[in-house]
Amino acid sequence: MQVINGKEVAASVLTKVQQDIEALKQAGVVPGLAVVLVGEDPASKVYVGSKVRKCAELGMNSRKIALPTETTQQELLKVVAELNADSSIHGILVQSPPPPHIDEAAIVRAIDPRKDVDGFHPENVAKLVLEDPSGFVPCTPLGCMQLIKSAGVETQGAHAVVIGRSMIVGKPMASLLMAKGADATVTVAHSRTRDLAQLCRTADIIVAAVGRPEMVTADFVKDGAVVIDVGINRVEDASREKGYRIVGDVKYSEVVQKCRAITPVPGGVGPMTIAMLMANTVKACRQQALL
Ligand code: NDP
Repeated sequence: MQVINGKEVAASVLTKVQQDIEALKQAGVVPGLAVVLVGEDPASKVYVGSKVRKCAELGMNSRKIALPTETTQQELLKVVAELNADSSIHGILVQSPPPPHIDEAAIVRAIDPRKDVDGFHPENVAKLVLEDPSGFVPCTPLGCMQLIKSAGVETQGAHAVVIGRSMIVGKPMASLLMAKGADATVTVAHSRTRDLAQLCRTADIIVAAVGRPEMVTADFVKDGAVVIDVGINRVEDASREKGYRIVGDVKYSEVVQKCRAITPVPGGVGPMTIAMLMANTVKACRQQALL
C-alpha cells in the first residue's frame, strides 16, 4: 500500500517551476499573477494569502487586489479589463466565491483566456475537451493527474469512477482521464447516481470530489484500487484547539486497508492545487512572451 505524498510531488513540481521562472528571467520576463479578492470571506483570504506567498517564494511577481464586498459587477469588470491590458500580468484569477450579487460566470468570461490560469473560461474548457495543449486546465484535477502519474498508476484501459460533476473538479477530471494518452474508461457519478457503492466497487481508480466528509467507505472500494481524495471538509472536533479538523471525502482509516494507493487529507491533493496554479502561470507567461 502506497500513501501518495502530495507535499513531495508538489515540491518537485515547484522545483521545475522555479527553474522555468529563472529561465524566463534570463530571457527578460518575470511571470506575474494577479489575484482578485472581493469581500471578506475568511477561507478565501487564506487561499489568496497562500497564493501570493507562493509567488514570492518562487521569485514570481504577484499583485493582490482586495476589493470591498460592495464592489459592483461593473467595477469588477473594469479591474479585470485593466489586468487583461497589463503586459506585466500573465495570469489572472478572481477568487471564488465572490459575493452573491456578482455574476461569477460573466467575470470568468471577461478574463482574457490567455491569462485564465484557473482554466475556467469557456475557451479553455473547450480546449480541454478538444485536447488542445495550449489551453489551461483547472489546477485541482491537473494536480490529481500528476499524483496518479507519480504513483505509477496505469490508467490505460482502467475503469475510473469520478464522484462529482463540478466544472472545477469532476468534469475536467473526467476529461483528463479519458484523454488520449491517459486512456481510462471513465464513469462520472453525482448525487442522482444509483447504487454508488456498487458502481465504485467496479473502479480501478476512484476520484472523490463530493464535499461530503468521509462518504467513501471501505465498501465502495475493491481490493487494490487507487483512491484520490479531493475533499476538504471541516468537521467539529472538540479535542483540537481550533474546534475542528479537516477530513476528506474518503474514510481514510477504513479505505487505506483495502487500496493499493491513496492520497491523504491534508497533504494529498491540496498542495498540488497551488503548485499547478504556479505552473499554469509560468505557462501563460511563456505563451504571452512567445518563449
Ligand atoms: P461541488 O459542490 O461543486 O460538487 C460536488 C459534486 O458532488 C456534485 O456534482 C454533486 O452532485 C456531487 N454529490 C453531492 N452529494 C453526492 C452524493 N451523496 N453522492 C454522489 N455525488 C454527490 O464541489 P467541488 O467539486 O467544488 O468540490 C468537491 C470537494 O473538493 C469539496 O470538498 C471541496 O472542498 C474540495 N475541493 C478541494 C480542492 C483542493 O484543492 N484540494 C479544490 C476544489 C475543491 P450534483 O451535481 O448532482 O449536485
